[in-house]
Amino acid sequence: MRQTDTITMKAYAKINLGLDVIRRREDGYHELDMIMQTVGMYDVLTFTKSAKPGIRLQSENRMIPTDERNLVYKAAAWLFSEYSLAGGLEIALKKRIPVAAGMAGGSSDCAATIKALNCLYGLNLTKEEMEKIGVKFGADVPYCIMGGTVRAEGIGERLTPLADTPRCHVLLVKPPVRVSTKMVYENLNANALTRHPDISGIAAAIENGDLKAMAERLENVLETVTVKEFPVIQAIKQRLEETGAIRALMSGSGPTVYGIFTDGRKARQACELLRQEMQRNLVFLTTVIDRKRIRSEENGIQPKGAPENA
Ligand code: ATP
Repeated sequence: MRQTDTITMKAYAKINLGLDVIRRREDGYHELDMIMQTVGMYDVLTFTKSAKPGIRLQSENRMIPTDERNLVYKAAAWLFSEYSLAGGLEIALKKRIPVAAGMAGGSSDCAATIKALNCLYGLNLTKEEMEKIGVKFGADVPYCIMGGTVRAEGIGERLTPLADTPRCHVLLVKPPVRVSTKMVYENLNANALTRHPDISGIAAAIENGDLKAMAERLENVLETVTVKEFPVIQAIKQRLEETGAIRALMSGSGPTVYGIFTDGRKARQACELLRQEMQRNLVFLTTVIDRKRIRSEENGIQPKGAPENA
């Protein structure tokens, strides 16, 4: 098989350094103001051209559909139809990002699919064109195409790239509960919120390279719903701060909680401790990932440096 017939892509997870809901629009969508950050946890997708027509997606993860309900399948089918692509496609999806965890796993897989097919079939789409296509499949997909540290407004499609978040350790903890994103937004009375996170303050702290000022301002308005419903989220936040995180927050609509650590040794100790207290595979130590790193990986150049997965 020719080398250009197959492509392997990483699809990185994100965390929210800030999440505000400005208002609920008449059409039911929520207007958001968020700071998104790529972290070093990822799914792996392999795309292989095939002579047999049709799209075939397989994954060892039984929690996700592999038919047209999957965002990977959806995006590939749309591109096949829109650009009249010939032949077939085999897709293998190795899921490592927890499903329905507030880390945009499905959106990131979808973004990776658009980027991979752009390359595999020489579609010559620009990043902006891919972002426009991406929003058809989910509000977080345009961000996942861009990656790195980004302010996302509107329903999530208006993107402003920020300076890189200063290097730090991120301890991810996925509480053993299921949270429905729909339930969270339905229970949030967005138009009656009296307190809003300081999203501009977080962005300014990042631009100034001031990790401490950034950490002090981390806030997610959706915690007002989830913490009441699932007290374990607050308990894990507290545990992360007790074990040395300078700040802990829930990501997206949850339930994943993360702690920001400046000290690598403290982060590793906290990781071990929490792994003893919870199920081992629910605790994961990583770092923030910047856009330059993502781009160089996409261009097939691996930068030197320590691996980010602990
Ligand atoms: P977000 O942070 O954008 O709210 P999430 O991390 O909470 O997303 P996902 O892991 O993307 O949630 O999954 C949400 C739902 O989407 C799942 O219940 C699953 O059935 C469906 N889904 C469709 N495609 C995928 C995919 N490629 N990976 C995971 N889930 C997918």
